[in-house]
Amino acid sequence: MGGCIFCKIAAGEVPATVVKRADGIMAFKDLNPQAPTHLLVIPTDHLASLNDAKDPQLLGRLLAFARDLARDTGIAERGYRVVVNTNPDGGQTVFHLHLHLLGGRPMTWPPG
Ligand code: AMP
Ligand code: ZN
Repeated sequence: MGGCIFCKIAAGEVPATVVKRADGIMAFKDLNPQAPTHLLVIPTDHLASLNDAKDPQLLGRLLAFARDLARDTGIAERGYRVVVNTNPDGGQTVFHLHLHLLGGRPMTWPPG
């Protein structure tokens, strides 16, 4: 989608540290990491937010992708957090659906 930064990353038009790609899904390092491990998992086709994701199979694949990345990056056993900020009250700033995978330190609750 024109102007979408994550679409540009998916197309290779904007640089990112890509850590994994699969069919229609990719993961790359967050530019402003909030934890020692902070990856973003996105569908390569544009969807603005979780509200627009109508395909439960895609949502399941995104979640499994994040779970597998947690294992691959060595944070699965100690624990990690998967976050999907949605729309302004959810803290979403980039309107291309993404899962944050955060780990490598203890998380606190409640979130801000
Ligand atoms: P959210 O606030 O949930 O929409 O998260 C957007 C995330 O995208 C933030 O954590 C940003 O640091 C991250 N971000 C924004 N632009 C880029 C970029 N070009 N490459 C990697 N991460 C980015
Ligand atoms: Zn996009």
